[in-house]
Amino acid sequence: MTPKDDIAPRLERIKATIPAGVTLVAVSKFHPAETLMEAYQAGQRVFAESRVQELLPKIQALPADIQWHFIGHLQTNKVKQLVGKVALIESVDSQRLLDLIDKESAAQGTVTRVLLEAHVAREETKTGWSPEHLLDYFDNHRYRNLKATHLCGLMGMATNTTDEGLIAADFEKISALARTIRGRCPDLTGFDILSMGMSDDYPLAIRHGSTMVRIGTAIFGARQY
Ligand SMILES: *Cc1c(COP(=O)(O)O)cnc(C)c1O
Repeated sequence: MTPKDDIAPRLERIKATIPAGVTLVAVSKFHPAETLMEAYQAGQRVFAESRVQELLPKIQALPADIQWHFIGHLQTNKVKQLVGKVALIESVDSQRLLDLIDKESAAQGTVTRVLLEAHVAREETKTGWSPEHLLDYFDNHRYRNLKATHLCGLMGMATNTTDEGLIAADFEKISALARTIRGRCPDLTGFDILSMGMSDDYPLAIRHGSTMVRIGTAIFGARQY
């Protein structure tokens, strides 16, 4: 873990490398509320968590003007608990989950903002929509059936490799997918967020069109699982 005094200067250094128009999301999973508070006091307002059971107590414990993002695999039985609590669900990895979020949001009388998680990395273990599945969904205009969900763009991760060429190619694929979708669906408004880039690869992601970077380790230090 990063000593508390280091969090503010680390945030400043990272912010200095991020152009205006790119949102910095502080990935705070596995760090205690006091650690998040250090970042909050340094001006950070957007935080992301990957587990519902960890997120809900943090929402209770921390200031109300924080915008919470959810970035983990969301189990369908946790959707009810999450809807209405977060500014953005970045990790919608299947149509089944999307439809469930929509149904629950309508039932609660709220609108949920989401990103669809695109799967372009080489690892089978990563989840998300294949490019084919995404294009099929949008070409058939199935998004028009959504009643209480706002599709705000795509989230994606590059292959876990040191090969920068491969990482860049993955980011470019996700960028190109978003452009293709926007081009084919002119009625799809506000589909403009591209969430790509983590501690090790965010400068490369920004060069390939990222508008939102999800940074944990570079702010808070290593996580203790
Ligand atoms: C944990 C996590 C991050 C942050 O990763 P770091 O390497 O610590 O910056 C970003 N995105 C997702 C989806 C994550 O689960």
